[in-house]
Amino acid sequence: MHIDVLTLFPEMIEGVLNASILKRAQDNAAFNYNLVNFRDYSANKHSKVDDYPYGGGAGMVLTPQPVFDTLDALTSGGQTKPRVVLLSPQGEPYQQSKAEELAEEDHLVLICGHYEGYDERIREHLVTDEISIGDYVLTGGELGAMVLIDSVVRLLPDALGNKESAAEDSFSSGLLEHPHYTRPADFRGMKVPEVLLSGDHAKIAEWRREASLKRTYERRPDMLVKENLTEKDGELLRKIQQNED
Ligand code: SAM
Repeated sequence: MHIDVLTLFPEMIEGVLNASILKRAQDNAAFNYNLVNFRDYSANKHSKVDDYPYGGGAGMVLTPQPVFDTLDALTSGGQTKPRVVLLSPQGEPYQQSKAEELAEEDHLVLICGHYEGYDERIREHLVTDEISIGDYVLTGGELGAMVLIDSVVRLLPDALGNKESAAEDSFSSGLLEHPHYTRPADFRGMKVPEVLLSGDHAKIAEWRREASLKRTYERRPDMLVKENLTEKDGELLRKIQQNED
């Protein structure tokens, strides 16, 4: 996968992409990236990229020219059209299912806004997806782009090693993940559940499924939709509900 990030502050992003699993994913050729400062494409003699809003009001608005010209330069001669994602608090709320969808692409372009926002023509004519990382307002789209890249890249083949697996993660399975324990089995009197030490893989799998259902029931009951649940899950849930009542 190739990811282009249009940003006025590339230095904010560099460190995040070159540490930990994102670094390893590049070493394994799972993805590569290009940080593009769209100020470099400004036709203004002072390299301006923003201007006052028509109609008045506070704040500066990103002008269309530098963003359109950057996109033209990045996509000229390309065989396929990239997914062009606008980071915006007004976008579709970001979820794991969207990360899974984007992980299927070969080429992503992420546009990071700043200041008051974008000229609406960017939104209307350049963008395929508009994504919000939550119901709060950030100063710029860079943190959103980093969240998106991290969550997408870890799903790519060759990004995670054998030791980590995305399939069991919270949300991927439709439920929150079960709790984990490691050595020692007894830490200051706090004991690991017996079943996890039993070596009985069927029993362990059942315990984990029940723990996962319980955690989801307690913290995110909105996720307990029929499509993610088996008949056996239904029985376990009834048991959990009875114990909690
Ligand atoms: N005036 C805009 C509004 O009310 O919708 C907010 C602009 S915000 C200060 C500047 C930039 O930060 C946005 O253009 C966007 O790129 C980014 N941003 C802010 N909050 C975000 C969020 N929740 N998710 C994704 N990007 C966000």
